[in-house]
Amino acid sequence: MTDIAIIGAGPGGLVTALRLLQQGVTPTIYESVAELKPLGVGVDIKVYGTKEIEELGLLEEFREISVDAVDSIFFNHYGQEIYAEKCGVHMGYLHEQRFVHRGYLQMLFYDTLVERMGGTERIVLGARVVKYEQDAEGVTLHLEHRDGRTETVRHDAVIAADGIKSAIRQQMHPTLSDPHYSGITMYRGTTLREPFRDGHTILHIGDPRVSSMIIYPIAHDFEGSGLDLINWVVEYERDETVEDWNQIGSVDDIVPLYDTVKLPFLDVQALMRDAREVYLFPLIRHEPLENWVDGRVVLLGDAAHAMFPRGGNGVCQAFLDARVIAEKLGEHDDPHEAFVAYDAARREPVNRIVMSMRGEGYEVIRRMVAERTNGKPFDDIEEVLPLAEADEIFSGYHRLVGQPRPGFEAGEATGFRTWDEASARA
Ligand SMILES: Cc1cc2nc3c(=O)[nH]c(=O)nc-3n(C[C@H](O)[C@H](O)[C@H](O)COP(=O)(O)OP(=O)(O)OC[C@H]3O[C@@H](n4cnc5c(N)ncnc54)[C@H](O)[C@@H]3O)c2cc1C
Repeated sequence: MTDIAIIGAGPGGLVTALRLLQQGVTPTIYESVAELKPLGVGVDIKVYGTKEIEELGLLEEFREISVDAVDSIFFNHYGQEIYAEKCGVHMGYLHEQRFVHRGYLQMLFYDTLVERMGGTERIVLGARVVKYEQDAEGVTLHLEHRDGRTETVRHDAVIAADGIKSAIRQQMHPTLSDPHYSGITMYRGTTLREPFRDGHTILHIGDPRVSSMIIYPIAHDFEGSGLDLINWVVEYERDETVEDWNQIGSVDDIVPLYDTVKLPFLDVQALMRDAREVYLFPLIRHEPLENWVDGRVVLLGDAAHAMFPRGGNGVCQAFLDARVIAEKLGEHDDPHEAFVAYDAARREPVNRIVMSMRGEGYEVIRRMVAERTNGKPFDDIEEVLPLAEADEIFSGYHRLVGQPRPGFEAGEATGFRTWDEASARA
């Protein structure tokens, strides 16, 4: 049986470990932070992500910490509705789309792993992997511990799930051109408040030529408060910031951009002002890689395919990586052969998503409306953006990420002009 090391206890590394356990392989995990804490804000788990969580036997536990997505509604920067679609099972998919706090999801995977492994003996926290060396029999990892100790450890093969700033990717692809800043920074916050609408809606607001805002609830009765925890993200052009998930920002930069947005059920400016915390995250372009494998070492998750964190695809694609790599390790005795088969199955489809996420995906409909109306309010949205045109954009996107819209292939559109209409048809 292959002795596997996983670098990184983010969602990618943890789900890979859970998948390997299902194959009867117990890996060893090295994580640089000394203590795992529920960091981050919201992630939008698509139907194909929920399917993976169900296969891990964690659907009920996941439901307890997340919110069912029912409606997805698009507005221009006057708060006029331009499109709506149902989500997950409400659209006819077999699985739910759910909103969750990234840190709580990570802790669910971590706690489950500790339970299924029978302890933390093989989860080494506070151990940063700085480089690898390999020969025909195995891989040597060089570790730096938080207390300053250094150590080398030996494993048959290594899966590097060490995130956007992966040291292993850097070593594997030293000549890659430097990643570069897109010019857009995300302001990411959470706010505690009464549920808006029915507590199950994602809102997409604004003129993307100026700024774009996404809002959705990620927990009901958060920590016994009786309130919803609302996740919001605002994209805004500003000077470059550092690519780090934990930089603190100020809402003063972005609140004035939403002066014109008037929604009957939510004061978006108050939502931003009342935030518990605001983080900055610049959208950095990492070029898609031409190879994820070096002998007995392989990349997975953000280390392999860092993408703009829009629409939950970063985390959901890491779940798919995890399933496929575990399957391939089950099929091949030689870990290198397994890694090559995983690379062949996953790299090109994910690279297509990486490139697509650099564009606006289906969010482009707000730009189209803004351009076609010269940034003015409209009288009849059908004259600005016909429903059939919008539907085609959405269907193309859903196909790309591997979840074609139910019914659409048979010619039945599943998008709606307004959420009233969407509710009537659901
Ligand atoms: C603190 C944090 C907050 C985040 N918040 C959000 C969010 O709000 N929304 C969102 O969409 N995405 C967020 N992400 C990214 C999201 O988790 C990933 O896009 C996705 O889940 C894929 O996960 P991953 O495991 O590949 O990478 P990550 O989640 O980045 O996990 C990588 C892990 O590897 C560890 N690591 C890094 N280098 C080394 C090393 N050299 N040796 C050992 N361990 C190492 C890191 O500490 C981390 O735990 C966040 C990531 C982090 C680290």
